[in-house]
Amino acid sequence: MTDIQFDDRVAIVTGAGSGLGRGYALELARRGAKVVVNDLGGSPSGVGASASAAQRVVQEITDAGGEAVASTDSVATRAGGAAIVQTALDTWGKVDVLISNAGFLRNNRFEDLTDEEIDPIVDVHLKGAFYVGQPAYRAMRAGGYGRILFTGSSSGAFGHAWQANYAASKAGMIGLSNAVAIEGSAYGIQSNVLLPNALSRLEEVMTPGYMEIPAFAEALQSTDFSFADGRMTPEFTVPLAVYLVSEACTATQGIYSSNSGRYSRVRLAEAEGWVSPAGTTPPAVEDIGANFEEISELRDFSLPAHNYDEFTIAAKVARARGIHS
Ligand code: NAD
Repeated sequence: MTDIQFDDRVAIVTGAGSGLGRGYALELARRGAKVVVNDLGGSPSGVGASASAAQRVVQEITDAGGEAVASTDSVATRAGGAAIVQTALDTWGKVDVLISNAGFLRNNRFEDLTDEEIDPIVDVHLKGAFYVGQPAYRAMRAGGYGRILFTGSSSGAFGHAWQANYAASKAGMIGLSNAVAIEGSAYGIQSNVLLPNALSRLEEVMTPGYMEIPAFAEALQSTDFSFADGRMTPEFTVPLAVYLVSEACTATQGIYSSNSGRYSRVRLAEAEGWVSPAGTTPPAVEDIGANFEEISELRDFSLPAHNYDEFTIAAKVARARGIHS
């Protein structure tokens, strides 16, 4: 594969003052991108603000001969999102790449989550992706080219105790990116979701309270972390993120996982299921109960490309079973 370069590309990385975002920004700049390094500079639980986080990374980039500008606006407001994108437009006149990455954690039991723990998490992760994503998309559409990477989480895709607020917001990235990818296909804009993995300062707020859930504690205690040893660094996730926002990458509407140096595609798939008898009489609840094993069986998957594809697949399954002509 030829070198992947970002010369003449303008990239925005939100939450780029530390951890994964910093890694993305440094690598994009090293490969020629002009980078808006956005970071509000708050704590790992989203308290406070400081300009130094973004400025430090800008300094690192410029010291290495790259081009970057700091943005200390919050992604969690519409005005903040607009200001972040405006920084790119004012400085370089366009936006080619967005890595929506900013965020923090406020973990608690589902039943105890307060509005102070739900709203800011939804604001920064889910609404923040809209607030930065929409103006960035408009700029990309004007330029006829764009690469968007939304940051999801395996917590949202697969589940994690004490993170209902965060997991729901992160799962939202999948629906958001699917819609953006389909709409963006008309304008040269691709959109994907990354499920990253790295030890970062977010570990500080991973309260071990969730260990009170017996099944989860057992699952965690029996987890095989042997391969992850020394590989849970941002540097192991950076290459996948940077590839996904490169011109070389033609993938869109995907979900990709980076876990300790194993890189893979994740998808919501649909099993073949049970088909109710021919005709327009709906099944009874008891029919669902009687066939629930078949409904639940995870085999013969299909991967609907969009909402309407499910109709075509259902018709095909019904036809194969002689229930539909
Ligand atoms: P991090 O705390 O090192 O980085 C997140 C950055 O976002 C911080 O620098 C923070 O100041 C910034 N930020 C927070 N709120 C902001 C706001 N309103 N506006 C602008 N910037 C803001 O954590 P990280 O581990 O590098 O996480 C990066 C992203 O990856 C987050 O969205 C996180 O949820 C996600 N993620 C991380 C992991 C992991 O294993 N580290 C796993 C799954 C998902």
